[in-house]
Amino acid sequence: HAKNLNGEIEFDEVSFSYDTSRKALNEVSLRMEPGQTTALVGHTGSGKSTVANLIARYYDPTGGIVRIDGKDIRDYRLNELREQVSTVLQDTFIFSGTIMENIRFGRPDASDKEVIRAAEAIGADDFILNLQNGFETEVEERGNILSVGERQLLSFARALLADPKIIILDEATASIDTETELKIQKALATLLKDRTSVMIAHRLSTIREADHIIVLEQGNIIEQGNHNEL
Ligand code: ATP
Ligand code: MG
Repeated sequence: HAKNLNGEIEFDEVSFSYDTSRKALNEVSLRMEPGQTTALVGHTGSGKSTVANLIARYYDPTGGIVRIDGKDIRDYRLNELREQVSTVLQDTFIFSGTIMENIRFGRPDASDKEVIRAAEAIGADDFILNLQNGFETEVEERGNILSVGERQLLSFARALLADPKIIILDEATASIDTETELKIQKALATLLKDRTSVMIAHRLSTIREADHIIVLEQGNIIEQGNHNEL
């Protein structure tokens, strides 16, 4: 069962094209170790999001194999795989409903108590409790009432509750104030503990703290190592 994953990710000569004209990934081989944080860096269009898309199986490779714990990801049931791979997006997906419902999104069976506990662990509870109706506050899809930082904390609480083995995070480039930044760093440490994480990294702090850094250019890995080596 996918629940017992270690979260080891391997790309074995993986190629991918969105269309026939150009390869977004060109025979890329890589390993991401269980429990470690790998930062993906590179210029726009270099293939970072494509790597993430293949791990979450939004697409299948056009060549090569993506493996999780040594098994071709096409051999997992898609719903089981998706339970184990959470994507925390830069532009967090918020739907019209309460804060409670939004955090519960990936774990429909979770009790109110579990939702609140996840929010507390992430440090999202103080801003939520300051909203007019706390966890029962209605938010809109185009989420007017939440700041970028608050949306991120909400998505972290959602991911923590879903408890996946693998987390993919597309970091925000937008600068947020220092106080929120510190909160997010702390929340991230809680969220990433004991999980394999793939960070599409823009912030130097993330790259510095990553266990492994992979540099992409035009669909190829041009360098990899830790911060000291590169
Ligand atoms: P960014 O830093 O801008 O997010 P990225 O490194 O994430 O860039 P990718 O999104 O992986 O880059 O794109 C890799 C290549 O695939 C680019 O040439 C891009 O134009 C192309 N591409 C990405 N998404 C699609 C798509 N949905 N349809 C067609 N081509 C795409
Ligand atoms: Mg991208």
